[in-house]
Amino acid sequence: MMSKLVLVLNCGSSSLKFAVIDAQSGDEHLSGLAECFNLVDARIKWKMDGNKEQAELGAGAAHREALDFIVNTILASKPELKEQLVAIGHRVVHGGEKYTKSVLIDDAVVAGIEQCASLAPLHNPAALIGIRAAQASFGALPQVAVFDTAFHQSMPKHAYAYAIPQKLYREHGIRRYGMHGTSHLFVSREAAQALSKDVNDTNVITCHLGNGGSVTAVRGGKSVDTSMGMTPLEGLVMGTRSGDLDPAIIFHLVDNLGYTLDEVNNMLNKQSGLLGLSELTNDCRGIEEGFEEGNKGCTLALEVFCYRLAKYVASYTVPLKRVDAIVFTGGIGENSDLIRKKVLEHLAIFGYQVDDEKNLAARFGGEGVITKDGTPVAMVIPTNEEFVIASDALGLI
Ligand code: ADP
Repeated sequence: MMSKLVLVLNCGSSSLKFAVIDAQSGDEHLSGLAECFNLVDARIKWKMDGNKEQAELGAGAAHREALDFIVNTILASKPELKEQLVAIGHRVVHGGEKYTKSVLIDDAVVAGIEQCASLAPLHNPAALIGIRAAQASFGALPQVAVFDTAFHQSMPKHAYAYAIPQKLYREHGIRRYGMHGTSHLFVSREAAQALSKDVNDTNVITCHLGNGGSVTAVRGGKSVDTSMGMTPLEGLVMGTRSGDLDPAIIFHLVDNLGYTLDEVNNMLNKQSGLLGLSELTNDCRGIEEGFEEGNKGCTLALEVFCYRLAKYVASYTVPLKRVDAIVFTGGIGENSDLIRKKVLEHLAIFGYQVDDEKNLAARFGGEGVITKDGTPVAMVIPTNEEFVIASDALGLI
């Protein structure tokens, strides 16, 4: 029987993550990453049938060359895979208020994504380049856009409004949008299933902790609050992003300390978070190693990260009123038993008690409940954004 396969593309400004996913079973037939675009060492690596391979793309190569390579070299080596492709699914970061769910891409959608680019100047233009390159390389295949912001469009106004003159919202769309929606959606559904509950009657707090991170309050299957804002800079301490801070720091840096706005932008997005606090690394594994060795910077980074995360989780009991589970996902959420334990210790007032054995078992692909029987539930659920993108694409064609 023919499978229904979807090519999932996640375009960054200098990289492209790709995968071929069975939209019904979720099986992954191919996955890979093309990176270092526009540089001399632009390259691509991929995994197919358990084999890892890599190749140079040629100096200055970018999205178009990477997609050509995927079609003409990788997929050409396995025609049965190419024949079973039914659609292409694109991850698009910002859908503004226009897109509350995934859509088939046509000229109007391309224009819509362009309009939202003012809200995500780093991310949406890359997705557009990817869409145009995929149209050129794959001609007839239908293409679908899946937005990181869409799941959060259910937030009530009191959760998304910034307390600034509302003219800025009306005229320029300045409000909170949230990101990682595909992941929060997926793990909240999986959590309901794991709890043997109807999604519409399940309230969870989902913590997506990767290089970027966000927490979402999901009530009855709908996002009612989330920690990222108009851009991914707001909220948690992340790998290199500061998360929440007093905005007056920016004026102080510029007016009194001689920084340019570009420098501040770069500092808050690329030099802060775990990296800024530890003065060593943005990688959680390195932070944990440093902490074990008694490194002061890494210890500070870990403590601030966990404390801030716990405060967010606690605050999301407000919109949920009843919490059925806290869910951890993303590279850190799925693997760091240390961070999960520290966060749940901060939340002891709610009754959370970590089961050390279960917490250790839920790593490296392991999943499930990590709290003691008879105490409030926290669990680990590996995310699968590619599967959501593939199944949305199949649903739309
Ligand atoms: P992205 O947001 O880029 O998709 P991931 O979800 O892969 O990122 O998460 C990357 C983060 O996960 C890094 O900080 C990495 O250190 C962390 N991570 C991965 N494995 C482990 C581990 N075993 N223990 C602690 N952190 C881990």
